[in-house]
Amino acid sequence: MKRHVLIAGAGASGMTAAIWAAREGARVTLLEQKDCPGKKLLSTGNGRCNLTNLNQKDEYYRCSQPGFPSSVLRQFSVDDTLEFFRRLGITVRNRNGYIYPNSDQASSVLEALLQELEYSGVRIVCGCPVTGAVRDGDTFLLSTERGQLQGDALILAAGSKAAPVTGSDGSGYKLAAGLGHQIITPLPALVQLRCREKHYKRLAGVRTEARVSLFADGKFLAGDQGELQLTDYGISGIPVFQVSRYASVALHRKQDVTARINFLPHINRRQVGKLLEQRRRELENRNCVQWMNGLLNSKLSAVLLSLAGIQEKQPVKSVSRSQWNRLQELITDYETNISAVNPFENAQVCCGGVDTRQVREKTLESCLAEGLYFCGELLDVDGICGGYNLQWAWSSGAVAGRNAAKGARP
Ligand SMILES: Cc1cc2nc3c(=O)[nH]c(=O)nc-3n(C[C@H](O)[C@H](O)[C@H](O)COP(=O)(O)OP(=O)(O)OC[C@H]3O[C@@H](n4cnc5c(N)ncnc54)[C@H](O)[C@@H]3O)c2cc1C
Repeated sequence: MKRHVLIAGAGASGMTAAIWAAREGARVTLLEQKDCPGKKLLSTGNGRCNLTNLNQKDEYYRCSQPGFPSSVLRQFSVDDTLEFFRRLGITVRNRNGYIYPNSDQASSVLEALLQELEYSGVRIVCGCPVTGAVRDGDTFLLSTERGQLQGDALILAAGSKAAPVTGSDGSGYKLAAGLGHQIITPLPALVQLRCREKHYKRLAGVRTEARVSLFADGKFLAGDQGELQLTDYGISGIPVFQVSRYASVALHRKQDVTARINFLPHINRRQVGKLLEQRRRELENRNCVQWMNGLLNSKLSAVLLSLAGIQEKQPVKSVSRSQWNRLQELITDYETNISAVNPFENAQVCCGGVDTRQVREKTLESCLAEGLYFCGELLDVDGICGGYNLQWAWSSGAVAGRNAAKGARP
């Protein structure tokens, strides 16, 4: 008799797990609470789906147990992922290591997975939230609104709490906790940061290259460089997303969180000093707002001048040495106080989740309940922005699916 594998959640990881479990010979039932599978996948990469990244480093995946993600990723690597999708008909485009389908449509990635699920004989039941899961002898019993289902193995692939409109409403954590698993508090990650200062309304809409460094109680946590976006409540953009999970954790611990921003990150501090001095000499007959023109975005310049105590119409010649020093400091080391991160609704992923210390890294099987497996964002693993979270979904889905189908078989 074929082993029956039940999977809760038809997102990126659950669909991958289903395909691999079916390829290993299992009978697979994939349960999805939304009316169709893969809703989140459709919104990835602004609808284009950045499905992986060729530039892989262990530190791009964050987890309370640092070696855990790489052990899983080694078993189903980026090359395996590209081959998997190639065989499903997806031709990819490489943008500096960031991999997208050549169609530039996330929908084509979803369609390829759905075709393969169909050809593999996976039974997909949509509009079917899993409300409970219990171990019953050697099997699992799942409660759904449509009645109970019994299986030899259960894969929890229900995602996190990020972007709950796509279906990941956190119910997977309850299912895992009900089966005895510890949950590390899920917090929003890859998300915008809200700042205390009042001047952000004047900065809304500014986009500028910058380096963002994050501190908690004065201790450096993380930094990143890229296009910073200023909003009416704080800071956003890729470099902010990359450090945001550390802000989430520090704020959750009630620490004081600050970000320091360098608005001229492509040159060093000494070069900045020389540049400003040269502009001061060459534009000495201008007023200060004219002097700033062409250096930084004009809205940003106006705010930095006022923070330095300099009037916009003030002649350059009349600016005191301490005002210049303060302005230079603001340009290269502007400090802002972080009051909060945006909520789960705005987050691309969560940090936290099922504690990996209770999960076997070789198989993704629970250490507590034989036949129970986990994959995807439900686990306490979050990647940086750039295709890493989907890579985690594909890798962990493949590992969980293969092993759930094999069971205790060596
Ligand atoms: C706007 C946005 C853009 C993103 N862009 C990228 C990108 O370009 N590249 C990248 O690598 N990552 C990106 N991500 C992150 C990536 O989409 C996720 O990390 C990935 O989809 C997680 O896959 P998953 O299978 O673990 O969870 P999900 O994709 O969230 O799937 C979980 C599924 O389980 C279902 N479910 C939940 N609970 C139950 C239940 N009780 N019963 C039945 N079904 C249930 C949900 O409805 C959902 O369909 C993006 C995320 C967002 C929000």
